[in-house]
Amino acid sequence: MSSQSALPGSPFFHFKNGQLHAEHVSVDALAKEHGTPLFVYSQAALAAALTAYQDGFKGRHVSIHYAVKANSNLSILRFFAQHGCGFDIVSAGELERALVAGAAPETIVFSGVGKTRQEMQLALQKRIGCFNIESEAELEVLNSVAQGLNVRAPISLRVNPDVDAQTHPYISTGLKSNKFGIAHERALTVFKHAAALPHIEVKGIDCHIGSQITTEAPYLDALDRLLDLVEAVEACGIALSHIDCGGGLGIQYQNEKPPVASDLWAKMFARADARGYGQRHFMIEPGRSLVGNAGICLTEVLYLKPGEEKHFCIVDAAMNDLPRPAMYQAYHTITGVQETATHNPDTAPLYDVVGPVCESGDWLGRDRHLHVQQGDLLAVYSAGAYSMSMASNYNTRPRAAEILVDGTNARVIRQRDSLQQMLQAEQ
Ligand SMILES: *Cc1c(COP(=O)(O)O)cnc(C)c1O
Repeated sequence: MSSQSALPGSPFFHFKNGQLHAEHVSVDALAKEHGTPLFVYSQAALAAALTAYQDGFKGRHVSIHYAVKANSNLSILRFFAQHGCGFDIVSAGELERALVAGAAPETIVFSGVGKTRQEMQLALQKRIGCFNIESEAELEVLNSVAQGLNVRAPISLRVNPDVDAQTHPYISTGLKSNKFGIAHERALTVFKHAAALPHIEVKGIDCHIGSQITTEAPYLDALDRLLDLVEAVEACGIALSHIDCGGGLGIQYQNEKPPVASDLWAKMFARADARGYGQRHFMIEPGRSLVGNAGICLTEVLYLKPGEEKHFCIVDAAMNDLPRPAMYQAYHTITGVQETATHNPDTAPLYDVVGPVCESGDWLGRDRHLHVQQGDLLAVYSAGAYSMSMASNYNTRPRAAEILVDGTNARVIRQRDSLQQMLQAEQ
């Protein structure tokens, strides 16, 4: 990486006097105080990512439903709740988190292909805003659960628009071959059926075409496909009070240049205006783009292991902390916490940065030029989304602690797991 692309998460993560800082806090000091691996988030980065959306929504009716699964720490959720967001949840556990964080139940939408009857019951009792229904079978079950409680369940149908989000196959969700949503050509039939069910109240339509999307075209295509259906559904006398375009906007991990949220939405609204739908209530469900570049993971170099074919830099963070490389062959930028580690890359040895877990898939970065020594600290960038929320205790490793920085202030928002905690539930 000799090209001088900006550090992911800059300017909130930046070097000052040769030392990496999160806002005004030296991350070296945080690692010394709290140990590693350690997730460090910037509150100003969260605010900036949210503002990038809100700037595009002036004069429009849009509600933002943060996708909890991207990063479900209660302090992060509380920040978004306090800044006007609702939530997109996929389980009873996430429902509980959102409510504990102070979410108003009516701002919560419930997505996911496999909601259980128990989860439906709980969400109905809490009076959430909308169930995003993913199959005809699920619709029947929700109708019966709502009947049991003598209520009507507010629903949207998640439609599969069959557009290619041009992202990694594991995070592409809007193709016919994916398990998500109701096929576009069946949607009208299912809407008519839903409208006739006594314990279902049709509220809207939604889609979510994938994640880490870095171009505008799939969004505009999906919007067109969605609006075609809105037109057809409403022509049958079924009014839709909202149009939910899902999440999926990408972030910079390496040198991607994803659209800026407000620019993307200016184009989306231009398209919606041209078709007469620009003043409707739109909903969005962003996850990664709100938190991904607002976090880094600090890790200590345990050992350097030179080899004939490869040099290994063995660090104390692993696939249980940062699962994306192992799961999706994902790239995360890695630098030293001392700026000199990444100076003059041409003279630096080439390392695979790997964790201690007993799997060959346990790597964090491949072929990285680093000037490092045992005991040095590295920072793994773009670790705010789908990192801690996907972390596990594999190899009976405690999940990392998390710190939220705000200006010169840093506070622990999650303690590192203790060994005692990890064993507690077992006999
Ligand atoms: C995961 C998910 C999101 C958020 O996706 P991002 O790529 O993180 O923005 C939104 N909606 C649904 C239904 C999801 O499953």
